[in-house]
Amino acid sequence: MPSLVGGGSGLARPGAVSLAHRGVLFLDEAPEFSKGALEALRQPLEHGRVQLARSRGGTEYPALTQLVLAANPCPCAKPAGDAYCECSPLARRRYLGRLSGPLLDRIDVQVQLPAVRAAELMAGEGDRESSAAVARRVATARDAAAERWAGLGHRLNGQVPGPDLRRPPWRLPGSDTAELRARLDSGSLSARGFDRVIRLAWTIADLDGRSRPVRDDVLEAIQLRTGDAT
Ligand SMILES: [Zn+2]
Repeated sequence: MPSLVGGGSGLARPGAVSLAHRGVLFLDEAPEFSKGALEALRQPLEHGRVQLARSRGGTEYPALTQLVLAANPCPCAKPAGDAYCECSPLARRRYLGRLSGPLLDRIDVQVQLPAVRAAELMAGEGDRESSAAVARRVATARDAAAERWAGLGHRLNGQVPGPDLRRPPWRLPGSDTAELRARLDSGSLSARGFDRVIRLAWTIADLDGRSRPVRDDVLEAIQLRTGDAT
């Protein structure tokens, strides 16, 4: 836990989550981390900083990071449904269960990656969009967001507080958020998740060059959050 969120004996040292401040923290094989260490990520994910308690007074480090977790579908690391996987359904559930609900509630996008086939591995780069092209698209989207939120003092969709998103002129029409509100009312989505889906919908719209999210952007954001998208 000290190496991830900070701490250690004596003067509390910053952990990986602070060393990755304003960058990306990538945790491969996330379920292999201790439950305590993973749960300790919740505070920095929520507040963008880490507070480390000490008997002689606390220390605080910044921790605004883009957190990326990777996980295999089961302990043996074979793809889901793979004929060679001998893990029991219980073992698989227990493995992914180490990523708790409260932690996943702070994760905006879940994507299932199918196993790579030999043909894909050998295929050329020709028909894929280049990283440079994607970077340009992302930069354009970030510029649009920065311009929109400048009056509120924010630069990124992820920084806009929920109340600002939910009041005019930024509130999305009720017809566009019907599915979202139904999920909140049924309890399948938390209030935190509600705001996070709205922020994601704004990002999807920015990436597509729309000035505001439409209903399909909200639905896509819900799919990305729940991991239903394929
Ligand atoms: Zn397995």
